[in-house]
Amino acid sequence: MSVRRRSGGFTVSMSDTSSCPCLRARLRPYRQIEPIRYGKRVVGRPRRYGRRVIEIGLTGGIGSGKSTVAALLVERGAVLIDADVIVREVQEPGTPVFAAMVERFGPGIVAADGSLDRAAVAAVVFADREQLEALNGIVHPAVSDEMTRRRQALAATDATVLLDIPLLVESKYSGLAGVIVVDVDPELAVERLVRHRGFAEEDARARIGRQASRDERLAVADFVIDNSGDLEELRAQVEKCWEWIGSLERPEPGGPVEPIRGRNAASG
Ligand code: ATP
Repeated sequence: MSVRRRSGGFTVSMSDTSSCPCLRARLRPYRQIEPIRYGKRVVGRPRRYGRRVIEIGLTGGIGSGKSTVAALLVERGAVLIDADVIVREVQEPGTPVFAAMVERFGPGIVAADGSLDRAAVAAVVFADREQLEALNGIVHPAVSDEMTRRRQALAATDATVLLDIPLLVESKYSGLAGVIVVDVDPELAVERLVRHRGFAEEDARARIGRQASRDERLAVADFVIDNSGDLEELRAQVEKCWEWIGSLERPEPGGPVEPIRGRNAASG
């Protein structure tokens, strides 16, 4: 390796150190200077100067603008762990979760191309509470394990980790340094879901109705982003939110990463 680092007033190249045990020992902390990556993207760097990883939750009702806010925070340097993306990954054909779902709900939930027919799953579980609990029992442990694995991979970095967990309130997650709630009038969320995301109005309303209320969500918020304005206004609030995150004290490095395992959660 030929990366240059300052050491005791000298700038040395890592490749210079192989023959010098003394320098090798002094430079040991710099040995792991490679950034940590998910795929090609750099998501964190080994901890420097006492800075530590911090984990912030992001939540909001369906269509409130979580993904839009998450993307803006990622632009500013946050590392995103998205529960919805993980749900989709653990349900890919060939996974144990996919197999367990087919066993429980039958081949009717498999689309012609072999993937999961999400509409068929929704039709089964939203009509029957017991089936919904069965689904949660299959999916949630796998999602929780995968989230823990990703958080663990970042635990020794100084990353600002954003955990986008739509059902954070319903699931009573805890242990985060702060919770951001994206707040919007449910009527506006319905309008946006219908206009931009192709939802049927009735479906959008039914999904909102199954989630925690606006007040329940606001009750757990450490920072509220009001997304009732246009995208420019949202951007300005995200900027303030990023400053707020920067002002938070980073927690002491602890032992192993505790799983954030939800209770009472419902998919929606
Ligand atoms: P879900 O719960 O389904 O994951 P979400 O909370 O992530 O939804 P987004 O997908 O970010 O919500 O936003 C819903 C739709 O509303 C998107 O099409 C998005 O582009 C649009 N949208 C978000 N915020 C605004 C805004 N301030 N002005 C106009 N459109 C917006």
